[in-house]
Amino acid sequence: MQHLAGNLFIVSAPSGAGKSSLIQALLKRHSDMQVSVSHTTRAPRPGEQDGVHYHFISVAEFKALIAKDEFFEWAEVFGNYYGTSKSTIRDSLSRGIDVFLDIDWQGARQIKTQESSAKGIFILPPSLAELEQRLTKRGQDSNDVIAKRMAQAQSEMSHADEYEYLIINDNFDNALNEFERIVLAQRNSFGSQASKHQALLTQLLAKTAN
Ligand code: 5GP
Repeated sequence: MQHLAGNLFIVSAPSGAGKSSLIQALLKRHSDMQVSVSHTTRAPRPGEQDGVHYHFISVAEFKALIAKDEFFEWAEVFGNYYGTSKSTIRDSLSRGIDVFLDIDWQGARQIKTQESSAKGIFILPPSLAELEQRLTKRGQDSNDVIAKRMAQAQSEMSHADEYEYLIINDNFDNALNEFERIVLAQRNSFGSQASKHQALLTQLLAKTAN
């Protein structure tokens, strides 16, 4: 895909690192940023809205989109299909909107093979002890359940070195400011500027004899 005016970011984290809260807080600060809404065949849960939490579609519709090569990536999870639509994302990017993909490391790898300009941001908790505390909900869970969540979180974190940027979410406001700086700085990357100021750069950057 040619470089579009907006930038595509993959945001991953173990559960308990504060990823969703950080994304939502950044979206409140900037109207020209969006989180990608996936398509799914599962039924909406109470309170979930079509087009906000997911695009809810039938299995037949989903299969038709697969056949049209409409997904960057898709997966079957617990018997339902989930996928990230190419055209929705490209439409936002072409309008200069930065798009966040809230996906795990496996999805991130798939996206990167197709969209090499996508930048990965990984969010970490400040310590294992703090993570365990965040994953323990008021003593209601058994040790087994907590151990399982911790193992899952550690497995996700073991892939953090595949990402371009790292945020350690110790203090929420600091982490949010770091997140914002990363996204805003990317707007000044050469590729991003070249797509926004094509004519100007053609003039100014013409190669001279020496
Ligand atoms: P839920 O049904 O609870 O909203 O999500 C179930 C699982 O599907 C979660 O692990 C979630 O990360 C995953 N999921 C949601 N959207 C997508 C997507 O677009 N692609 C992939 N591969 N997984 C997704």
